[in-house]
Amino acid sequence: MYKTHTCGELRSSHIGQTVTLAGWVHRRRDHGGVTFIDLRDRFGLVQVVADPLKFPEAHQVMDAVRPEWVVQIIGLVRARPEGLANPNMPTGEIEVESHEVKILNMAKTPPFLIHKEEDVDENFRLKYRYLDLRHERMRRNIELRHRVVKFIRDYLDARGFLEIETPILFKTTPEGARDYLVPSRVHPGEFYALPQSPQQLKQLLMVAGMERYFQIARCFRDEDQRGDRQPEFTQLDLEMSFIEREDIMRLIEGMFTEMVAKVVPHKRLLASPWPRIFYKDAMERFGKDNPDIRYGMELKNISDLAMGSGFAVFEDTVTSGGHVRGINASGCGGYSRKQLDELTEQVKKHGAKGLAYLAVAESGEHRSSFAKFLSPERVQAIIERLEGKPGDLLLFVADAKPAVVFESLARLRVLMAERLKLIDPNVLGFCWVIDFPFVNWNEEEQRWDPSHHLFTSPMREDIPLLDTDPGKARGQQYDLVLNNYEVGGGSIRIHNRALQEKVFALIGLDPETARQRFGHMLEAFEYGTPPHGGIAPGIDRICMILADEPNIREVIAFPKNQMARDVMADAPSPAEEKQLKDLHIKISS
Ligand code: ASP
Repeated sequence: MYKTHTCGELRSSHIGQTVTLAGWVHRRRDHGGVTFIDLRDRFGLVQVVADPLKFPEAHQVMDAVRPEWVVQIIGLVRARPEGLANPNMPTGEIEVESHEVKILNMAKTPPFLIHKEEDVDENFRLKYRYLDLRHERMRRNIELRHRVVKFIRDYLDARGFLEIETPILFKTTPEGARDYLVPSRVHPGEFYALPQSPQQLKQLLMVAGMERYFQIARCFRDEDQRGDRQPEFTQLDLEMSFIEREDIMRLIEGMFTEMVAKVVPHKRLLASPWPRIFYKDAMERFGKDNPDIRYGMELKNISDLAMGSGFAVFEDTVTSGGHVRGINASGCGGYSRKQLDELTEQVKKHGAKGLAYLAVAESGEHRSSFAKFLSPERVQAIIERLEGKPGDLLLFVADAKPAVVFESLARLRVLMAERLKLIDPNVLGFCWVIDFPFVNWNEEEQRWDPSHHLFTSPMREDIPLLDTDPGKARGQQYDLVLNNYEVGGGSIRIHNRALQEKVFALIGLDPETARQRFGHMLEAFEYGTPPHGGIAPGIDRICMILADEPNIREVIAFPKNQMARDVMADAPSPAEEKQLKDLHIKISS
């Protein structure tokens, strides 16, 4: 037997027992001839002591080992001497006196320290991911992810859900990204598409009568690699029959509420029940549809006050259909010219032409880039709209494109909240965003795009609008938002052929293409399809937030880097000539 106990489980209650341990040498040190090592396995660390006088052979081996060597130790658990207990270590009251030490494997010096984290280039960490995963933080993240997924499985199993696997080699399932294609050897010139999500399959499972389905599903989306996207990522994919939007929201809310209490008890929910915010209000108040609701600093519209103010920049913006909006960075009235310039640079990154400011003073002598053009009453009205107090800094963006105003102020709000430390990282700001527009106008391609995906149903009462004013129709979509992120989206689906065909036509899919791509769905809809809907919370992103990590790569065992490359195995990589030939593929460049 390699081990009778794990390193992390030993406590005072084990004192007097002879144990066999196996693991890695975490750290080694000598104290006046006595050698100490911290022995590590997945379950923790324990101090092992080798005394040259009592057990010279064990000591000799212990003296030779180096960090990350794999060893087996037989020894006696004893109390640490008076005053030497380490309260920071779960095993800190005891140590193991080694009687026999066996080297199971040696190790080269690792390219970075394992016993503590250094600032190492991420690509280097990813190249040696198997060593990086030995870091305590990474081990904790992987364990957390396991607990999250285990919780989900148990929770849904207890509520009658079936976990059903769906194929990876399939046909295009669009979610707004490019497909990854897999060439078929047996069908020359034909391709499978990796699913961007199991959307069609889960709907077909509803047609099949499964009623409650879930899957911890891998999704593949070939997107430009900005931010912390991954070409493959994991969703809790879920679908139910005979339900309304309310049922799905209640299920998910209950699941995450209980999960937080069980898996991350040190965190708490901001509000219960979770706030529900209409898409329109989310934009008005936060400038984005995935808002962080843990703090205020909401956007305020001053377009009406800008009109007739006499300040041309503001007035022209509003007359040309634009907006003037602002936020109150409370207490920042003392910002220097340089600090203001730096904030201006920040909003310019998101398309704004500039940043107007007003530092509220006690006396009415406000420091401002525009107040001198306005009457004192107008200035006062603006200050009141933003609930400005002396010492506050009011920041405004005016632009003919409302999207620019929203985007730049939404970013500025997040930046200022971080600076002002308005966020308690242990608070989880879950909310729902609902009542999205059903379709969005795609200026470039001059057509309507679905705001969620092709299979989302419009609100029943808005169906007539599809013929008259599609931009006004709302979709039966709901987004799950946590802190500053959209962590999931779902919808009630279309379940009849005529409406599905109408939506295909609206978004410009001609009947022949629709039949080629989705004929199987349209046909299935004619065989007694129940009303159904679902959702797909993103496991990576949720784990990232629960683990307080800055990006999803930290909660994925083997992620790709930001260039969609696996730098450990070096993938993608060229294929052999023979493989290409078998697949009927010629590389043209
Ligand atoms: N398939 C959707 C997505 O991946 C989620 C859903 O509608 O259930 O975003």
